[in-house]
Amino acid sequence: MLTNKSKQVVKREMTLMEKAYLPAIFSGMIITFKHIFMKKATVRYPEQTRPFAPVYRGQHVLKIDEAGAERCTACGLCAVACPAEAITMVAAERQKGEEHLYREEKYASTYEINMLRCIFCGLCEEACPKEAIFLTDRIVPSSFERDEFVYGKDKLVETVANPVDVTKRQTPAVLEFKKDKKHKHNLTFLDKVTKTFSRH
Ligand code: SF4
Ligand code: SF4
Repeated sequence: MLTNKSKQVVKREMTLMEKAYLPAIFSGMIITFKHIFMKKATVRYPEQTRPFAPVYRGQHVLKIDEAGAERCTACGLCAVACPAEAITMVAAERQKGEEHLYREEKYASTYEINMLRCIFCGLCEEACPKEAIFLTDRIVPSSFERDEFVYGKDKLVETVANPVDVTKRQTPAVLEFKKDKKHKHNLTFLDKVTKTFSRH
């Protein structure tokens, strides 16, 4: 015995009431009944959801510009910044006639994020010089298949019909910067066409 804190346990006989278990059952039912009137700690998800914190970072979106062209230019900075090595991409050269699809001369023909690797740190968003990638308040849905967590452009790029609101993460300063036509990457395809014609 290393300490003198030991206690002799005696197995005593249970009383008749204890053997019937009724007092224990009733006291348990009283506790349950009390909880019916208490404020619930849980919500009926997914019908009900809790409000998200303004800083919540969920599923990514690859943004398009006002003319509907993909903003991403496959520079790879997001992949380099990603601490989880969750981003992979293949760059391609924009062909003639594809100006309405891709904003710059180079674009990502493949862009994938492995949502199982991603730790939703937001560094890709910070690294992007084109304001092309943002994290949103959308939750990545669960699945039984690992392959389904590799999100390609079909799941990441927003469409003109279904734009993804990123105003919570796009600060007014960023929005102001995007309007500044001084910067070449802020010019849309239409801006470039207008500029070309105004020169002639
Ligand atoms: S949020 Fe972080 S971990 Fe996820 S893809 Fe972006 S940089 Fe990588
Ligand atoms: S999302 Fe941004 S940082 Fe990543 S490749 Fe595209 S332009 Fe570059």
